[in-house]
Amino acid sequence: MTELPQTARVVIIGGGAVGVSCLYHLAGMGWTDCALLEMNELTSGSTWHAAGNVPTFSASWSIMNMQRYSAGLYRRLGEAVDYPMNYHVTGSLRLAHNHERMLEFERVVGMGRYQGMNTQMCSLADLKERYPFLETHDLAGGLYDPYDGDIDPAQLTQALARGARDLGAKIVRFCPVTGARREGDDWILETGEGEIRAEYVVNAAGYRAQQVGALFGRFVPMMTMSHQFLLTEQIPELEAWSRQCGQKLPLLRDVDSSYYLRQEKFGLNLGPYERNCRAHWVSPDDPMPDDFSFQLFADDLDRLEWYIEDAVARVPILGTGGVNRVINGPIPYTPDGNPLIGPMPGVVNAFEACVFTFGIAQAGGAGKVLAEWVVEGFTEWDMWSCDPRRFTSFADQDHTNRKGIEVYGHEYAMHFPRHEWPAGRNKRLSPVHDRITGLGAQFGAYAGWERANWFARPGDDISQEATQTWAREGPWQKRIREECLSVRDAAGLLDLPGFSHFQIEGEGAADWLRAQVTGSLPRIGRFGLVYFADRRGRILTEMSVVRHDDNMMTLITAAAAQWHNFELLKSRLPGDPGFSLKDESDDYTALILAGPKSRDILAAVTDADLTRDWLTHQTGHIAGSYVNLIRVSYTGELGWEVHCARDDMAPVFDALMAAGERRGLRPFGMYALDSLRLEKGYRTWKGDLSTDYTVLEGGLERFVKWDKPDFVGKAALVREKQNGSVRRFVTLIVKAGDYDAPYMSTLWHGDDKVGEITSGGWGHRIDRSIALGMARTDCAVPGTELDVEIYGARYRAMVQPDQPLWDPGNERLKA
Ligand SMILES: Cc1cc2nc3c(=O)[nH]c(=O)nc-3n(C[C@H](O)[C@H](O)[C@H](O)COP(=O)(O)OP(=O)(O)OC[C@H]3O[C@@H](n4cnc5c(N)ncnc54)[C@H](O)[C@@H]3O)c2cc1C
Repeated sequence: MTELPQTARVVIIGGGAVGVSCLYHLAGMGWTDCALLEMNELTSGSTWHAAGNVPTFSASWSIMNMQRYSAGLYRRLGEAVDYPMNYHVTGSLRLAHNHERMLEFERVVGMGRYQGMNTQMCSLADLKERYPFLETHDLAGGLYDPYDGDIDPAQLTQALARGARDLGAKIVRFCPVTGARREGDDWILETGEGEIRAEYVVNAAGYRAQQVGALFGRFVPMMTMSHQFLLTEQIPELEAWSRQCGQKLPLLRDVDSSYYLRQEKFGLNLGPYERNCRAHWVSPDDPMPDDFSFQLFADDLDRLEWYIEDAVARVPILGTGGVNRVINGPIPYTPDGNPLIGPMPGVVNAFEACVFTFGIAQAGGAGKVLAEWVVEGFTEWDMWSCDPRRFTSFADQDHTNRKGIEVYGHEYAMHFPRHEWPAGRNKRLSPVHDRITGLGAQFGAYAGWERANWFARPGDDISQEATQTWAREGPWQKRIREECLSVRDAAGLLDLPGFSHFQIEGEGAADWLRAQVTGSLPRIGRFGLVYFADRRGRILTEMSVVRHDDNMMTLITAAAAQWHNFELLKSRLPGDPGFSLKDESDDYTALILAGPKSRDILAAVTDADLTRDWLTHQTGHIAGSYVNLIRVSYTGELGWEVHCARDDMAPVFDALMAAGERRGLRPFGMYALDSLRLEKGYRTWKGDLSTDYTVLEGGLERFVKWDKPDFVGKAALVREKQNGSVRRFVTLIVKAGDYDAPYMSTLWHGDDKVGEITSGGWGHRIDRSIALGMARTDCAVPGTELDVEIYGARYRAMVQPDQPLWDPGNERLKA
């Protein structure tokens, strides 16, 4: 057995499919001086008992990327490392019970096509042809994924292990990591076999990731569910068919009923994600055992009864085989069901690749992503959907448990754009939450913060059922329109708790910040946007700078970006900066007041000088509270952001509402804000602005100061400027039908795929469907006619001039 080495450049903790894939990919990138420590035998966590299904289907672009990569890797891996495996690419069918599900499939087929895959829509006849045992009378259709299949998870892990070892990486089994400490710039890991020194560590400990995280002082937001599948005895009819055709049935997923059904030899394997599900190890009377290697939970088939009956009605031969075996094992969940892959929040030189719900299907892609994080510091695809920093302090254990149960019970649910999942809510409330509740607010959770999405009026349908649609229309639409038009014609007030708020102060602060961003800093008394790029010139993030003094600035940024952005700033601080950087997000809150009447409303309540220009800021008082007024508005109308201490907000809100009463002020929500910002071409972080695009591609050249001595990404951007960008940010007006373009809709020019949509929606001031996106440079010329594929249908779209659709001269903003 391999002995524990004294040092390794990277130590991976955990030898399931994911940890071993990380090791394989690190070694493949040339980092062969890496070691993996496993407390028991490889695969002894969740991996050994997994069903081994390997779908590529996902409604998430980044998860699809990861799964597509995995499936491709698994096809060539056995040969590449000389370790033959049982990997059956049988294809799979997903069943749709209704029209909305068919639209979801259409969207995924479009995304898959854009990623080079040939996923296909199926009619009932297609379904029957591919799956002769299927009852189809009550279905709407389906989807065929030709790349889906099943792999032996243990063989997969062993194959990756062989590949990693052959490249020189080490795997030490029966070596639990029990402690971690910093010594100089290194990690010292304590294990049952002694200590090992490492430059970097990776937590790949599966359902034990929280325990391992604690060794580093990190709370990993995760919980464990029990997931069961049952295996039937051989089914003679299936055997006869299989032998006759020389093939296995495609994997079947009845996603509306919520189960998968797969041929296993000549029997079937049925695995439901049941609503009446069961969490494990979440209460003191059910502690996680110290050792659960190669163990299972007791069978609990009662829970699956409805699903078994449903599946038997769908595939009657299932009822002819008795149950041979039940596998009931632990499966870890984060609050959104996506894994954690990337930098470990708050801990230097430490990473996470853990809490995988579909860790077999994702292990290949996850290993690639993790290795890129460690070796390069960035990833090929934007992976925010899996970034550990997306969960900030709102994701405590209670929240995580509630969300984990909700996600498991709705594993295959559709995620409609206007639907807000109800579990784990009210984690963070604005100081005026009760007031806006009283005004009819329909809330959404934004990084745990409850914000109004729209304001309902008596009689409006506010049920969850009403939100089960991809369509633009719904009970909200009339109200969003009213809210937008009142911002256009009078004034609107948006309660916006949760802005991230960082304070930088002290000698040298401005010089340091200037060197981090692509552009210049605003002058004292002014406010401006700055962009941070990575070495490739790609967009890491955007922040707003409020310049108080030479060396005193507040950085304001999205709620969701709090940990990401603060860690970015911290990671770039020099050893002894001589200035301070503080995260004061919890102390402040904000309102947005916008519209032509906003000056009159403010004048009635504040002593501040409201003649100051657009993009200035000043302090003042409202109702006795000290406020910071920033003259800027994401709505594209005259307006101010009103920032103040949390405790001071209630009287400020009341004073503004009272002053606005006679001036047509009404509260507005996030949906209206999204519509208003689309008309201005203002980008959202991790939608329109992501590491998938460079600063120049993103159309942000006006935020690049070429004559600055240097900034991160400058060399790459200079090169891009010389050579020309391959794609450009575009604003499109779409002749859309009932649906606006969702994220990652494909842009077509004739038969060529020439780009993608990064956000879309209805602009109520211009009465048009708008889409923002990226198009191949030759197609990004204003006036070019393109097609946008929206839920399977193509709609004409025209590239617009490079200026806002609403108020192109910004005259209303500057009024
Ligand atoms: C019944 C069932 C069916 C499933 N079917 C599928 C499927 O069809 N497709 C799919 O994609 N996924 C499936 N899954 C999920 C899949 O099993 C997991 O997502 C996957 O195995 C996770 O792999 P991992 O490497 O992250 O974690 P694990 O396999 O749990 O590996 C983590 C390892 O870390 C080790 N470890 C923990 N603590 C320490 C420590 N302190 N020191 C050293 N080592 C440590 C553990 O011993 C363990 O081996 C299924 C799960 C269940 C329960």
